[in-house]
Order: sequence, then C-alpha cells, then structure tokens
Amino acid sequence: MSPNWTTPAAAALRADGLRVADLDTSATPGFTGDKAAGQQLLAERTVVLSALQEKLYANGRSGDHRNVLLVLQGMDTAGKGGIVRHVIGSVDPQGVDHASFGVPTPEEQRHHYLWRIRKALPRGGQLGVFDRSHYEDVLVVRVHDLVPPAEWEPRYDEINEFERELVAEGTTIVKVAMFVSLDEQKKRLRERLQRPEKYWKFNPSDIDERAFWPQYQAAYQAMLDRTSTERAPWHVIPSDRKWYSRLAVTELLIDALTALDLHWPAAQFDVAEQLKRLETA
Ligand code: ADP
Repeated sequence: MSPNWTTPAAAALRADGLRVADLDTSATPGFTGDKAAGQQLLAERTVVLSALQEKLYANGRSGDHRNVLLVLQGMDTAGKGGIVRHVIGSVDPQGVDHASFGVPTPEEQRHHYLWRIRKALPRGGQLGVFDRSHYEDVLVVRVHDLVPPAEWEPRYDEINEFERELVAEGTTIVKVAMFVSLDEQKKRLRERLQRPEKYWKFNPSDIDERAFWPQYQAAYQAMLDRTSTERAPWHVIPSDRKWYSRLAVTELLIDALTALDLHWPAAQFDVAEQLKRLETA
C-alpha cells in the first residue's frame, strides 16, 4: 500500500455510523498525499486495476460465474460520470457491463422496480457498473413522494434480500455513495452553464433539486443506515476533490478483485503438444 494511505480506503470510507449532514466533502479519508501525489498514484493503481480486471474477464471466459458490481449513487454533479470515464474507462471495455438508470420508461413502470435492475446484472467475468441503481427507488422516489411511504418503506429490506441473493450467486457488490457540498455543486453546475461543451450535462431540473438538499440528505442517511450490510457495505466518498474520489473508487475495486484471489485460467489443452504442432504447421 502507498505510504500516503494511512488507512486502506475500504476501511476509511465505511459508512458505519456516519452522519451525512456532518460529512466534510472536501476531506480525503485515509489519504495524506496532495493532489499531485494522488494523481500519480491513480495512474499507477489504474494499471493494477486493469490487470486484475483482465484476469476476471479471462476467468469468466473459462466458465467462472463470479463478477463484480460497482453501484454508483450520488447527487447531480457528484462525479459518477467521471468515475465511469476515468476509472472504468481505464480497463478493457470487453469486460465491462455498464448500465445507467434514469426515470423509468413506461414499460419499466409496468414492472416491479427491480425488474430493470435484474435485466442489467453483469454476467460471469464482467465488471458491472450501475450509474444510479435500485437505490433511486428509496432516494428520488422517497424525496418526491413518487409512491406512498407504505410502498417505499419495505424496499430497504427487499433490497437487502436482493443483494444477499446476488452475493450468494457470486457477485461482489461495491457500493459507493458520492457526496459534494452544496457550494461545490453550484460551482459545477455553473461550469456546465458557462462551457458549451458541458451544456449536454446540464438539466434545468438540477437547479430545482437543490431546494430538496435536506430531504436528499435524510434519504441518503436512511439508505446508508438500512442497507449497509456486512456482505454489501456502503462506502461514502467525499467528492469535492475529483482526484480523491477516483483514487478511492480505484482502490475499492482493486480490493474487491484481489479478494477473489484470481489466477490465470489453466490451459484446456496440452501446451507442449500444441507448440510442437505449431512448429510444423
Ligand atoms: P444523470 O443525471 O445521472 O446524468 P439522467 O439525466 O438520465 O442521468 O438523469 C437521471 C434521472 O433519473 C435522475 O434525476 C434520477 O433521479 C432519475 N431517476 C432514476 N431512477 C428513478 C426512479 N426509479 N424513479 C424516478 N426517477 C428516477
């Protein structure tokens, strides 16, 4: 581990007991280095992540059913897209299964909220990424009363059960909740409005959502309190510093992949014999 990590990211970012309202979103838990050190380490760790992911993919091709699912949640501008682009973007896209979840389509609305989630689950060997997820159904849905409390309330337990099944079937779930301060969000939204190349990221409703900040904080708090389990814990990432959030998520993924104790799949053929055949072919 780099000497700049005084506590491994997985331990430093565990959600247990954390109060969202008290979170310092500009902090860099567990990491003592500055931006330059963080960026340099990120470049190094990305190489490690990429090699592990290739091994996961290789094993999947050889029949291993295990996979890793990164679940990204965060308010607008928290940096989910940056994680996808800069962290996931550094690994072989063949092994990545990316899904994003927006306002449910009419078809999705006719089904149970986990229907579209189940359809998007990664297969063996894949690194799945959920850019937003089933947690929207206890976040935006709760904040805006999109269904009555009697309907969203049981979802926490249902989600825990759903994730228990996923883990039992061989999925390692890495749950990441990204938080920026209200000021930092304003800065990022302003940037989206000042740069034509960022207009596409802007949605006028993002400004309306700012008025619901306390309600979102409460909904995120309930999510962390009720769905951070031993088998699928939440990690809370202070995300005002993009370099830190990217480094932290990279470390969490490296951790998850390392725990799978992956090896290169053994040859399903006689190597010496095939070499000999090749020479005379
Ligand atoms: P992003 O904002 O992540 O770039 P979009 O512009 O597609 O992506 O926005 C996704 C929107 O869909 C968010 O406002 C989110 O709250 C909303 N959304 C996601 N899931 C649900 C859901 N189950 N019910 C209602 N709204 C949802």
